Parts: sequence; structure tokens; C-alpha cells
Amino acid sequence: MCGIVGYIGKNRADQIVIEALKRLEYRGYDSAGVAIGDGQRIRIIKKKGKVDDLKRLIDKDELSGTIGIGHTRWATHGVPSDRNAHPFRAHDIVVVHNGIIENHLEIKERLKKKGYRFQSDTDTEVIPNLILYYTREGFDLVGAVRRAVKDLKGSYALAILREKERILVGVRHESPLLIGVGDGEYFIASDAPALISKTNRFIFLEDGDIAVLTDDGVRILDRNGENVEREIREVNWTPMMAEKGGFKHFMLKEIYEQPSSISDTILGRILEEKGEIHFEELEEMPLSRIRKFWMVACGTSYHACLIGKYIFERNLKIPVEVDLASEFRYREPPVRKGDFLILISQSGETADTIAAMREGKKRGAYTLSICNVLGSTLSRETDSTIFTRAGPEIGVASTKAFTTQIAVLFMLMLFFASRMKTKEKKEIKKMISELKKIPHKVNEVLEGGAKIEEMSKKYMYYKNFLYLGRGINFPTVLEGALKLKEISYIHAEGYAAGEMKHGPIALIDERMPVLCLSPGDSTYSKMCSNIEEVISRQGKVILITDMDSHGMAKKVEDVFVVPKTIYELQPIVSVIPLQLFAYHIANFLGTDVDQPRNLAKSVTVE
Ligand code: GLU
Repeated sequence: MCGIVGYIGKNRADQIVIEALKRLEYRGYDSAGVAIGDGQRIRIIKKKGKVDDLKRLIDKDELSGTIGIGHTRWATHGVPSDRNAHPFRAHDIVVVHNGIIENHLEIKERLKKKGYRFQSDTDTEVIPNLILYYTREGFDLVGAVRRAVKDLKGSYALAILREKERILVGVRHESPLLIGVGDGEYFIASDAPALISKTNRFIFLEDGDIAVLTDDGVRILDRNGENVEREIREVNWTPMMAEKGGFKHFMLKEIYEQPSSISDTILGRILEEKGEIHFEELEEMPLSRIRKFWMVACGTSYHACLIGKYIFERNLKIPVEVDLASEFRYREPPVRKGDFLILISQSGETADTIAAMREGKKRGAYTLSICNVLGSTLSRETDSTIFTRAGPEIGVASTKAFTTQIAVLFMLMLFFASRMKTKEKKEIKKMISELKKIPHKVNEVLEGGAKIEEMSKKYMYYKNFLYLGRGINFPTVLEGALKLKEISYIHAEGYAAGEMKHGPIALIDERMPVLCLSPGDSTYSKMCSNIEEVISRQGKVILITDMDSHGMAKKVEDVFVVPKTIYELQPIVSVIPLQLFAYHIANFLGTDVDQPRNLAKSVTVE
């Protein structure tokens, strides 16, 4: 999820690796480390905190050597700490890793039985140990890596060194990794900006590739172990362009990352054979009778809570009360022992949400947080936490954190449904199989993104928008309207469509575009009536639906069709065009998309 770098050449590896890590800092991370080889030994220095802290340690220590690897960690398994920082060593094998090893517990058990010992809480530590195991079985380093990755499930980019060998090995599997080709020196990095000051010649590895870097050059093996040629490409990116992976803004990059961030969030949490959801984080959670759920958050996370209410109540038949954290904390909520309080915050540092959590705890509730950042205050203080694995979110307007929060809420509902036996096993299995299709469906929407961009041009000069939806689509339109407000500064209001006649209909005329989210669910016919009402008052309707032949399609101004999914997962698919619509309008208007005026990424004050 965060940064990998590697170097082999004639220059001082520590300086090159540190400089490259500094160039990845913009991504956000919690700890950093390097491993430098001097031909005999490999020395590791790693530390929680910033690359500058690490650099100070290295300066004191004088790490000499011309081969090395480095890492900035964005924790997914195990809190940020010196002990959990990368690189990890198993005897003479040293590894840095980006991503998640889904079956790490299984491998750990297997290796423990053979006498291997583990020091960290990470999923990563199994990797050097597994490679070591295979070298002891007689494989050379590359052979052992090839053998070890066959055992790994999940997503990983790896850089690997072995003491006394001048080989740097890189592996790519569902997590980016590229090779930088210099003059008599070679680099590895998870992202191009790390290397942009050293070279503009890159080999972009493909999934399953193993790259073997020596002083003489680069050899690449594909997933079948065959030598393959991969083209060296020259890129002329500025450092700013490279940071955003070629996208104009972080927000757009993050919108496009959603298929993989949702996949990462699901990873390892589906027990296929049992047809169940499993959360490692909830192993200790006592499950007594739950009287009531509360879901509390701010901003976009609050919209995730509202969606959570529809998902939970429909399937668990237990009431869910949703609150804004800033209201909850002062309104003396009747929370009692036996209540289950869910708090959602991307950063885990949102001041109002933390205060709400403390209030709920004081009143005897069990607290569970859904956060994106390991080690955050909220995750430390709640009884348990489930982490979304969206990766660092830099754009102030939240996108991938939101869709991964919904994925977690959906899985949490399934987790309770099997424990409480409120749903048949086969129903749960069916829902799990729908969840697994979501990353692909999100991708489909993104592939049609050019149409939304085109539509945005038409609407960018309007001053007001109304967004309408019913049922679970209502919070989705609230989120869509919030996105437009946040980054384009255009006034947009989300409304439950049924409420239109109780007020907002007075606003409708030819200057009011009305975005209607109307999939073919139980609210379909009611939404059709609402759309008619808007059209007959000259409002311009933008229809987002999952139906190829929506009854209103011919009457409205514009239509965008998203793939079908089940009711509970509809928001993840439907919010994507709304995110893109807001993004493109803001981009055309030329606002500061990633850092909109007056807004902060994590609101740590009341
Ligand atoms: N899952 C690994 C960990 O938690 C790697 C995290 C990363 O990609 O930075 O240490």
C-alpha cells in the first residue's frame, strides 16, 4: 500500500534509497526502514515515524554498501511501531513488502511447526521465513522466491536481498512495481516518483513477474518461470505528474483506485468453504445479545452510516440509529449497556467522532470503529476496529475510503447474520458472491467515465443542483451532492425523493438540474413519478440507473447506466458516476480539487 525502493550499482545505496523514500513521502506512511548490503552483511535500520528520523539514525551509523532496499509502511496488519516496520529478516533473507498476505496465519502455523519464530504482528514476516525455508530445501534465491510466491495468497510487491549475494529480486502480484534502468545501475520502486531524479527509463512489471537485478542487468521471469522481454519505456513525467501516477489530481487517481481498494478490503475476509465472513480483528469480540446498533460519524463517513442502517436493518432486523458525531455527543443519547456503537472515520482522528465514542463508552456501549489508519486514536480507544484497506487517501474529498467503508459495513452485516442466524447460509453465500463481483463492476463504470466527463461540460455553469434518491439510494445522493459542493463550490442538495413535494419542488425550473438515482428496485415506480414531476416543471433531469430501458430514459436530458447488483451493494456502484461528475465539473471550473478552499483532510478540531 505504501512505498518500496531498491538499488544495485556503484554508488552508496543508503543515500539513494533514502532519497527515493523521501520522494514517496507525499503518499503518507507510518514508519520507514532500509536494509543495506556491503557484500558480507546486510544491516537493517527501521523506525516508526518519518524518513528524516530514519535518516538521522543512518547518518549516525554510517551504513556503507552499494546494494539496498527501503520501505515506507502503511500498516495493514499490526500497529505502526519499530518492531512492525519493514524490512524483515529471516537469517540471511531480507524482504520489504507492499500489500496484504491473505493466508499469513496459515503459513505462520506451518512454519512454526518447523521451528520458525516470529517477532512482529505483520502479515509480511512470513515471506522472508518462507523464502528461507525453501533455500534450506536446496533452492537458490530466485528458485526459493519462485517457490515461496506459489504459497502466497493476496496482493504483494516485494523487494528481496540475501546476504553475501549481489542480487536484488523484485516480485509483482496485484501491487505495483517497476524497474528503473540507469547507467550501470538499476533500481526497483513501487512508484515512478521515487526514481524520477535518477532515470526516466522504466520497465513496468506485469502481475506474476519476478525481476532479477544484478550489476550486469535485469532478467525477468513471468509467472511460468519463462524468461520474458519487457519493453523499456521512456517517460517524461514531471515529479508532480509522477506522484499522481499520470492522473491530473489525486482525487481522480483515488476514484480510479477503487476496484483495487475494494478488493484489498475484501481480501482474506471471505471464508469461501464455510460461506462466512471472518474478521481477524473481531476474534476476541464477545457476542451477547445486541439490543440496538448506533452508527455515528461526520461528513462522508456519516453517509456510509446511513447506508449501513439500510443494510443492517433489512437483514438483521435490529434497529440502527444513525447520528452525526457532533450532535450525538451533546444530545444525551439514550445509549445503554447491550448497545453496539459503530464509529466510522477515515483517519481515525476526527475529533467529534472520538468524543462521541468516549460518550458512548461512558454509557456502557460496546464500541467498534471502522477506520483506514492503523494505530489511529479511534482504533486504539474502541473495543475493536475493522480496517478498511483503501490505502492512503490524499485528496481531501473522500472517495475510496467511502466505498471501502460500505464494503466493510456489508461484510459486518453478513458476519452478524451468520452469528445471529438471521439469514440462511445459502443467502449469505449468494451475497458474498455478489460482493466479490463489485470491484469488476466498479471498473466497468470507470471505463465508461468519458461519458460523465462529456456530461459535466454541459452542466458546469449551473449554480444549483438537486440530487434525488429513495431508500438506500437516498444517502448515496447525499454523498453525491456533498462531493459537488466540496470541490466545485456549486450548491447542491441531496433529498429523499419522497420529500420533494414537501418543499424543494418550489425550486424547480429550467435552471435547476436534478440528478435522479433510480435503479430498478422497489422504489422504481415512485421515482418515475418524481421524475415526471420534475420534468413537468422544466427541471433538467440527469438519470443514473441500472436499467437499460428505464421508463423515463427517453424523457430525461441525460442517462448514465451502471451495472446491476444487489440492493445492499448498489451504493458502491452508483456513487462512482456521482464522484466523477463532481470531479469533472470542478476540474473544468479550475478549482483546487485536491485541496478545496476552507477544508481539511482530517478534522481534528470540534
Ligand atoms: N501488510 C504489510 C504490513 O502491514 C505491508 C503494508 C504496506 O503495504 O505498507 O506491514
